Amino acid sequence: MQNPEMIRLSFFIGVLVLCGIWECLTPRKQLTQHKLYRWLNNLGLVAFNSLCLTLLMPILAIEAAFYAQNHQIGLLNQFPGIADLYKLIIAVILLDLAIYLQHLVFHRVPVLWRLHRMHHSDQDIDVTTGSRFHPIEIILSMWIKIGLIIALGVSPLAILVFEIILNASAMFNHSNAYLPLKLDHWLRKVVVTPDMHRVHHSVITKETHSNFGFFLSVWDRLFSTYRAQPELGHDKVKIGIPAFQTALEQRIDKMLLQPFRNEHSK
Ligand SMILES: [Zn+2]
Ligand SMILES: [Zn+2]
Repeated sequence: MQNPEMIRLSFFIGVLVLCGIWECLTPRKQLTQHKLYRWLNNLGLVAFNSLCLTLLMPILAIEAAFYAQNHQIGLLNQFPGIADLYKLIIAVILLDLAIYLQHLVFHRVPVLWRLHRMHHSDQDIDVTTGSRFHPIEIILSMWIKIGLIIALGVSPLAILVFEIILNASAMFNHSNAYLPLKLDHWLRKVVVTPDMHRVHHSVITKETHSNFGFFLSVWDRLFSTYRAQPELGHDKVKIGIPAFQTALEQRIDKMLLQPFRNEHSK
């Protein structure tokens, strides 16, 4: 396989540019902060997270997949009769379900919510919010993913395809861009659309704790966590976490410290 990191990075930059242009051409919601300030801080965090993974993780997802393949371990490797393409599709669907469940758990367990809350404290959502996660959440997620890859026997190609889909999907559904309502209606029957995920970033608690899907929308419908629209509508819905509603909170050093602060303290 050609350098998987370069393939992932190329898709990341390509989708970021496409969604960025889409947001500029047809914005869905007026931003409350300066775009350049948010982009510098959110993308600065992405670069910092990549550095953390390089320095702190002894093994990455793709290496775990090569290990499972070479040692023929994990569920999917026990069925040599199933074609590789079907195994890839099954792996992508199961990994997407796992990411949905992981997201739900990060909302329900208080100590994990402190980490994930930083994704929600962005006062606007746009394409860069899709990659804005605390480095401890990124590292925890990587260990969970490695465990799943080994348990399921996910192939290196399948994990590369999944990571590209998940990353592209997160950037797409965080885009502050207008999707014609008819198209949104049909598209969200299969995948999470920007209007569907915007509900998840509302300051209203019951809306924050709904729509956990990142790629396929089926899981929210199946597990009754689906909420179609924000109560106040997309123009008026307030985005963020009530305790972190200042521009200063969106600075990278402040973001990194948010998990260690109580929601009621300043
Ligand atoms: Zn969330
Ligand atoms: Zn989000």
